Amino acid sequence: MTLYRAQVMDTPDDPFRGGALRADADAGLLVVDGMIVERGPYADVRREHLGEAVVDLTSGLLLPGFVDTHVHYPQMRAIGALGMPLLEWLDRCALPEEARLADAGYAREVAGEFIASLVDSGTTTALVFGSHFAPAVDLLFERATERGLRITSGLVVGDRLLRPELHTTAQRAYDQARELARRWHQQGRTRYAVTPRFSLSCTDELLESCSAMHADTAGCWFTSHINENPAEIAKVRELFGCGYLDSYDKHGLVGPKSVFAHNVHPTDTELELLAASGASVAHCPTSNAALGSGLFPLDRHLSCGVRVALGSDVGAGTGFSLFKEGLQAYFLQRLRGPEGVPMTSAHLLYLATSAGADALGLGDQVGDLEVGKRFDAVWLDPPPGTPLAIGLRHADGSSDALAKAFALATPHDLRGVWVDGERVKG
Ligand SMILES: [Zn+2]
Repeated sequence: MTLYRAQVMDTPDDPFRGGALRADADAGLLVVDGMIVERGPYADVRREHLGEAVVDLTSGLLLPGFVDTHVHYPQMRAIGALGMPLLEWLDRCALPEEARLADAGYAREVAGEFIASLVDSGTTTALVFGSHFAPAVDLLFERATERGLRITSGLVVGDRLLRPELHTTAQRAYDQARELARRWHQQGRTRYAVTPRFSLSCTDELLESCSAMHADTAGCWFTSHINENPAEIAKVRELFGCGYLDSYDKHGLVGPKSVFAHNVHPTDTELELLAASGASVAHCPTSNAALGSGLFPLDRHLSCGVRVALGSDVGAGTGFSLFKEGLQAYFLQRLRGPEGVPMTSAHLLYLATSAGADALGLGDQVGDLEVGKRFDAVWLDPPPGTPLAIGLRHADGSSDALAKAFALATPHDLRGVWVDGERVKG
């Protein structure tokens, strides 16, 4: 049993539906076996538990652990390429790097770097695009398990228009996925996600095998890409003779356990289907900006009732920090002019935490720091004298302090990260 004393901020109520930032200047959180069992003013909780050890985090802010709903493990070393649109970037940067994970020694190093980067950035839960190579996916799950992260991931599959060494077959994709799921699905904090790269690189036969795998594995997740770039969308239409979402939907792959990355250029019909099916969209703002993919129409998603969370989309995205993604999401909406959705720091925190937990079906366990939730948390406590430390000290209230965090915080400012009550950083 541990009592944490901190300034706590979280978003149990969706700010896009009238909720507000919950901020407690001096809160006590009592954690037993990784679960928050009491929360209240510190003095009150302390009075009831005088004998318990206290962890004093009062010099900074305590936030829920971040949830990254779209990030590519094999692209760890591809971050930072500039000047290319999506399909050229895939050919020249991402796919050559992904091919290197055929070498298990190489994959082991990348898996270690990737998981360490998530932890360092305060990401405690993630939906991860795995590798095209099954042994490399095993290595990711092994490393995630060692560090204790909540990871949903799977074998990435494609059978056309990639590099030949990345191609699989429908049968092999199914067999390897079943074997990986047997080892990792719903084991501790790991789960399996069926992961076709995008319908552009998948025949109907392969998507049908993905559908079978999804149906045969109870509680299994599904993720892929959609509507990222106009040239990509045109190619999908040419290949399938239908819209992008329909290329998945005709195989039964659009549902409440589906997360589609990007959706920068959706049709109204697609938004209606996403909303009606309960599927989620992973908005990846630094990636959208870096590849020039476009300005995410958040207003249209919200008005249709589509669930939206945040993804870093490393390696097209420019880093692991969801502070940075939140800020970039804010920038993109500003750049959309009158169509942009005005957002406060509460909206950004919601997108980076509760919304992601909800998209991954983990909203009953993580996403905020309510009683009954697991203690997944990040402690933001910047070094003295830095612009962030100065800003926090002079902030005009909690919402302003949180805005300064999104503007200025980096992973170096996180002094502690916990998953399930275990300290994994600091
Ligand atoms: Zn992606």
